[in-house]
Amino acid sequence: MAVLLDGKAGAARVKAEVAKEVEQIKAKGKNVTLAVVIVGDDPASRVYVNNKKKDCAEVGIISEEYALPADTKQEKLISLVKELNERSDINGILVQLPLPKPLDEKAVINTIAVQKDVDAFHPVNVGRIMIGEYDFLPCTPAGVMELIKYAGISVEGKNCVVVGRSNIVGKPMAMLLLHKNGTVTICHSRTQNLKDITSKADILVVAIGKAKFVTADMVKEGAVVIDVGMNRLPNGKLCGDVDFEAVSQKASYITPVPGGVGPMTRAMLLKNTIKAAKLQYNL
Ligand code: NDP
Repeated sequence: MAVLLDGKAGAARVKAEVAKEVEQIKAKGKNVTLAVVIVGDDPASRVYVNNKKKDCAEVGIISEEYALPADTKQEKLISLVKELNERSDINGILVQLPLPKPLDEKAVINTIAVQKDVDAFHPVNVGRIMIGEYDFLPCTPAGVMELIKYAGISVEGKNCVVVGRSNIVGKPMAMLLLHKNGTVTICHSRTQNLKDITSKADILVVAIGKAKFVTADMVKEGAVVIDVGMNRLPNGKLCGDVDFEAVSQKASYITPVPGGVGPMTRAMLLKNTIKAAKLQYNL
C-alpha cells in the first residue's frame, strides 16, 4: 500500500509558515491584503471565493471582495483591476475564473500588475517560470512540488510524466519538474500509446479531468502518483483522475482526492500573497 501524500497536513504546515510571516509584516506596521474579484453568480466560483477568503482569515491576511454582476462591461472590470493595481494597500489581486461571457479573460489577466499576480497567470509571470526566474508559481503545480519536497522525494534524473497540458496545471507542472532536473514527458489527448509512457514514469502527475482514468496497469510498480483531477461523481462524491483503490496498491506514494492536491493549491495562494506583500514592501 502506497504512502499517502497528505495535502491537509501539508496545507496546515504552509499556513502556519504564512501566519508567522503575516505576523512579522504586521510587526512592521503593515498589513497583507488580497483583493478577490468575482463576476457573476456561478455557484462553483462562489464556493472557491468563499474558501479563499476563509483561508486568508485563518492566517491573518485581509481579503477584500469585489463582487460584480454578470453583465459587467469589460471596461468596468478592467478599470477596477487598474485601480487595484494602483492601490498601495492591496498586495495581491485575484480574478476568479471563468469570467461570464463575453468578458475577455486574457485582457483582464494581462491588466493585473505583474507583481500582484498571485495566480501567476500573467504572461510575464508565465515566461519567468519558463526561464526559472520567478516570483510567483501557479498554485496547483507549486502545491504538488511542495508535497513532493516534504515527502523527501527526489525528482533529479527521474522519469516524470505529466498527463494534461493546460496552461494552469500541465505545462507549468512539467516546467517545475524540469527545473528540478527530472526527465519530463508531457502527454495529452492526442498522445499515442499513453499506457506505454505512463507505465515508465517514476513520478506520474495526472491532470485531465476524467474520473478514475488512470488504472493500475498504466502505473509502474513503486511510482509516485500525483492526482490533480477533481471530478464530481453522480453520487455527489469527489473523485480524482486516478483509480485510487487499485493504483494505491502499486504506487510508493499517492495523493488522495479529496485531501491531496486541492488543499495544497489553496495554501499556495496564501504563500503567493505573502510573496507579493514582501515584494511591495521591499522586505
Ligand atoms: P483542462 O481541461 O484545461 O486540460 C485537460 C488536459 O487533459 C488537456 O491538456 C487534455 O488534452 C488532457 N486530456 C484530456 N483527455 C485526455 C486523455 N484521454 N488522455 C490524455 N490527456 C487527456 O483541465 P485543467 O488542467 O484545468 O484541470 C485538470 C483537472 O485538474 C480537472 O479535473 C480539474 O478540475 C483539476 N484541477 C484541480 C485543481 C486542484 O486544486 N486540485 C486545480 C486545477 C485543476 P488536450 O490539450 O489535447 O485537449
